[in-house]
Amino acid sequence: MLLEGSCHCGAVRFRVESETPYPYQACYCSICRKTAGGGGYAINLGADANTLEVEGAENLSVYNAKLYDRGGPGEVPVSEAERNFCKLCGSFLWLYDPRWPDLVHPFASAVDTPLPKPPERVHVALEFAAPWCTIPEGENERHFDLWPEESIAGWHRRHGL
Ligand SMILES: [Zn+2]
Ligand SMILES: [Zn+2]
Repeated sequence: MLLEGSCHCGAVRFRVESETPYPYQACYCSICRKTAGGGGYAINLGADANTLEVEGAENLSVYNAKLYDRGGPGEVPVSEAERNFCKLCGSFLWLYDPRWPDLVHPFASAVDTPLPKPPERVHVALEFAAPWCTIPEGENERHFDLWPEESIAGWHRRHGL
């Protein structure tokens, strides 16, 4: 489906085709929480990077997250993943990782197109979850201390979506 998204101030708009638009995976890692996850987590979708069209790209900025838990003593490596956000209003828009150049991961929070409701939700990186976060429990809520092996595309296939 075609996803249309925008930042809060409207200076950046984007559209991208996605075959994996279900917002099922909530990441509770500290990067997601601090940059784009006021509720304690952020949700990324999978989309086709070759179809990404951006209006107002001059208002984008990129954050390569610091990886405090990696690297040697006194060393803080940065992630290769590029978190694109609007430098005027701070809305996080999508993540792009040059290691997987065909994919782009829009933040569900930035997408204006009504997304389908996922039949099952996956909660990941719970080892890093803030203690005040209530993690949903129940039969359609799956929990992972770190990140599951299953890709976003794999989850959609498993559900026949
Ligand atoms: Zn903006
Ligand atoms: Zn995360």
